[in-house]
Amino acid sequence: MGKIILTGDRPTGRLHLGHYVGSLKRRVELQNSGEFEKIFIMIADAQALTDNFDNPDKIRDNIIEVALDYLSVGLDPAKTNMFIQSVVTELTELTFYYANLVTVSRLERNPTVKTEIKMRNFETSIPVGFFTYPISQASDITAFKATTVPVGEDQLPMIEQTREIVRKFNTTYNADVLVEPDALIPTNQICSRLPGTDGKAKMSKSLGNCIYLSDPEDVVKQKVMSMFTDPDHIQINDPGKVEGNAVFTYLDAFATDEDFAEFLPDYKNLDEMKEHYRRGGLGDVKCKKLLLNVINKELAPIRARRKEFEKDIPAVYEILRKGTEVARAEAAQTLSEVKAAMRINYFDDAALIQGQQEKFNS
Ligand code: ATP
Ligand code: MG
Repeated sequence: MGKIILTGDRPTGRLHLGHYVGSLKRRVELQNSGEFEKIFIMIADAQALTDNFDNPDKIRDNIIEVALDYLSVGLDPAKTNMFIQSVVTELTELTFYYANLVTVSRLERNPTVKTEIKMRNFETSIPVGFFTYPISQASDITAFKATTVPVGEDQLPMIEQTREIVRKFNTTYNADVLVEPDALIPTNQICSRLPGTDGKAKMSKSLGNCIYLSDPEDVVKQKVMSMFTDPDHIQINDPGKVEGNAVFTYLDAFATDEDFAEFLPDYKNLDEMKEHYRRGGLGDVKCKKLLLNVINKELAPIRARRKEFEKDIPAVYEILRKGTEVARAEAAQTLSEVKAAMRINYFDDAALIQGQQEKFNS
């Protein structure tokens, strides 16, 4: 069987640099590698509603933003099915059955859910929908028999949970229906969890510490210039810390040796620059200006493509509609196999009716 990709994003805002280095860039490379039989990229509106149920317009408005971000980074509808999660109702049905295979204590142990509950101040009253979203993610992945899930590090516990559900399902129902997926996380530690511009552990829409792919140049400039650095690096000549300094973390994620030749030939590469910063004598503004150039170079073609797609919004919805249709057919096929394995496919099973007739006649 060929390799299949499923991954996605919550339409809770525009996509940011964390998404880009953690997942989007890789998706485009994988899409163009020709190694995958099918690729599904999901806009996870139903999942986003689990912690935004009281603000459906936010989700509604951000679906098109995420779709535009996808197209502008180079996801190509001819190779990749982009779809809207809630329209594929088969996913909800799968979730209901998988819920039987998971315990409350197992969900409570999920470290990502734990952190997110704290972040959202849900500790005293966790919405059930939010608490169980890892089960719904298992449905998303298995509905497409995905082998490969390119995601950031925060998603590893979800993939593990999915693998457990797959094993439990296949053994409980003595079936070979569901496929155990593998996570594909960036090999580079920084890219698998890019920190925020405030230096916090993760750039995240919910934390308001993002540089968005669609931010215009002046907004990126303002964000970069006010970025968190080393609070003890007050005078230029003070020795500076590179670790935990968001500007250097971003340079680690984005800057190449060619960027130095182009924008800051005083240094051959990032190691030389870090060395100078540590020693003292290198100011934050110079570092930030380099970072600004590097980020703008990466974002310029993305911004330009977005402008083009923004001219025909109905066409973008049409791309999603078509992608969703393909996704739905695929999920329906898996759901029917799941129901057959669970022996709840009553009307599709002529032998059942025949067998029951014989039982009552004997
Ligand atoms: P929210 O705050 O609404 O949860 P988010 O910014 O965490 O939004 P998601 O839509 O939850 O974004 O994540 C989509 C994908 O992007 C996931 O694969 C996730 O691992 C990855 N991702 C998100 N933030 C980062 C980051 N800072 N670094 C690397 N990968 C990230
Ligand atoms: Mg998230």
